[in-house]
Amino acid sequence: MAKGKTFIISGPSGVGKGTIVKALMQTRPNTFLSVSATTREPRKGEEDGVHYHFIDVERFRSLIEQDAFLEYAEYVGNFYGTPKKYVDEAMERGEDVILEIDVQGATQVSAKRPDAVTIFVVPPSWEVLEQRLRDRGTDSEEKLQKRLVRAKVELQAASSYSYMVINDTVEEAVREVNAIMLAEHCRPGERLSLLSE
Ligand code: 5GP
Repeated sequence: MAKGKTFIISGPSGVGKGTIVKALMQTRPNTFLSVSATTREPRKGEEDGVHYHFIDVERFRSLIEQDAFLEYAEYVGNFYGTPKKYVDEAMERGEDVILEIDVQGATQVSAKRPDAVTIFVVPPSWEVLEQRLRDRGTDSEEKLQKRLVRAKVELQAASSYSYMVINDTVEEAVREVNAIMLAEHCRPGERLSLLSE
């Protein structure tokens, strides 16, 4: 059985990672999408347990103490973390794991799991990013400006990622991410381990 790999997808808030990942999941069997825990309020249309596990700060802190997170970070005033248990279970089943997490989280996971593949998604332009954030219409002007500042800071980390995908159209972005995932499974280390089984 092929071994599962971890793929980290980062990129500025509003770039469309969620849309890409959702479309990607429909094309890929044996792939596990990690559902993060967050202390942020749900947006309209977001479901508990589907988009995030929405929890309060107290519960989040207790999960930190229990070492339940593979990584966690604070992002624009809220906590976000990847529950460790489900990721490990998926890896044991031989599934690829997708983590849609910010740059701080990606750094933590890469340190623990150096073979994780990192993909950074960028918008075609800043104007497009700002427009997408405005269209989402969920953030106050202050929060929106904070997300834009944060996006520019995050972009500086992009060069340390293994791959960069421009989200011009969702179809093209999904095609690129799929191609990256396929190529990563064609590396000699992966193929040789299959032969020696
Ligand atoms: P949003 O509030 O827009 O859903 O997410 C804000 C940022 O937090 C995004 O960059 C998203 O990728 C990131 N994020 C979501 N879940 C996690 C997580 O579990 N850990 C970390 N470090 N970042 C996360």
